[in-house]
Amino acid sequence: MSLPHDTVLDRFLRYVVIDTQSDPTSSAQPSTEKQKDLGRLLERELKALGLDDAHLDEHGNVYATIPANTKKDVPAICFCSHMDTAPDFSGTGVKPQLVRNYQGGDITLTGDPSQVIRVASHPQLHDQIGHDIVTTDGTTLLGADDKAGVAEIMSAAQFLVRNPEIPHGPVKILFTTDEEIGRGADKVDLKTLGARFAYTLDGSTVGEIENETFSADGVTIDISGVAMHPGYAKGKMENAIKAASDIVARLPRDIAPETTEGREGFIHPLDISGSMEAARIQLIIRDFREGGLKEKEDLLEKITSEVMATYPGSSHTFTVKHQYRNMKEVLDRHPEIMENLEESVRRVGLEPVRHSIRGGTDGSRLSFMGLPCPNIYTGGHAYHSPLEWVSVQDMETAVKTIVELVKVWEERA
Ligand SMILES: [Zn+2]
Repeated sequence: MSLPHDTVLDRFLRYVVIDTQSDPTSSAQPSTEKQKDLGRLLERELKALGLDDAHLDEHGNVYATIPANTKKDVPAICFCSHMDTAPDFSGTGVKPQLVRNYQGGDITLTGDPSQVIRVASHPQLHDQIGHDIVTTDGTTLLGADDKAGVAEIMSAAQFLVRNPEIPHGPVKILFTTDEEIGRGADKVDLKTLGARFAYTLDGSTVGEIENETFSADGVTIDISGVAMHPGYAKGKMENAIKAASDIVARLPRDIAPETTEGREGFIHPLDISGSMEAARIQLIIRDFREGGLKEKEDLLEKITSEVMATYPGSSHTFTVKHQYRNMKEVLDRHPEIMENLEESVRRVGLEPVRHSIRGGTDGSRLSFMGLPCPNIYTGGHAYHSPLEWVSVQDMETAVKTIVELVKVWEERA
């Protein structure tokens, strides 16, 4: 079913019109059945490429293998992207627009002229002169996050299958669901996958590769106050709402998402609820270092105890929940993963730039599940918004990077 001249753009345009938005309020896996619409198409396309083991499982994950064609003992390498799009903005009825041979300037989106991709806020557009750019019509997100990655892996697979003279080890393909709601790796069967190392294609600007993510914990503070009729409360009432508010008011302003960047961590209240009798604050803690995470938790616990000391009749609990850890810890044990990636980036004519992600990826989970997994660029920008855009030429560069990476692993085996 795949045509002889099925380009990465053809594939991308075919995938983005399929609505695959995930839903954080659903407890099912996948969280939305519609994610399987893309999964089924990918399974068929992989089979049409001759990858007989391609299959979509009940959780919506797609697995396939390009068998090795070399006698060398090359470790099985996996390429992974997620099929879902973010719940932040509509992914229904995506109408991709193609700006051919971009000549600079702002791009006004045709379906909603109030939506403009401005050069001032998207300086990466300076590197796109002469490129073809895909945008939305302004009424939905595009879903380049992460269908650019999906299309790139599919195109690289097609290239390897059609050029059997390129020697390579086993290449595994994995497409996941629900990455955007933090559950992408939950139901991945690493045994079925059978890979030694993996790479997600879920980054942005070409040349930028990522081997670090945040380390992440969640904190829940539960407060029990002293409830009382307000008319007769003097000297007795301890309002849990006020205790919770005091804690939030004392959070350091300079350790917040809105005041930090780069490698700085933060304490961030996500949710607060309660009554006079009982209140709950839910927070997330982020840092690149495990020690930094601990420092922030100790600080938060100290603030909580100090505030609660002023409510002597009340009580509280402070619970820390492990979320995920910086994948660098795992990747540093296998330096060849990044070295081979950097070599492949150079071979496509770019200077590799190592970045850290102020968030998590499927790769950070997979790394700690036993599958070390850094992140590669896709060429997409302004994710999770109607201003999302992707460069066709940069997608082609990402495809070439995958092919070169497969070659490097074979050469160095
Ligand atoms: Zn993504």
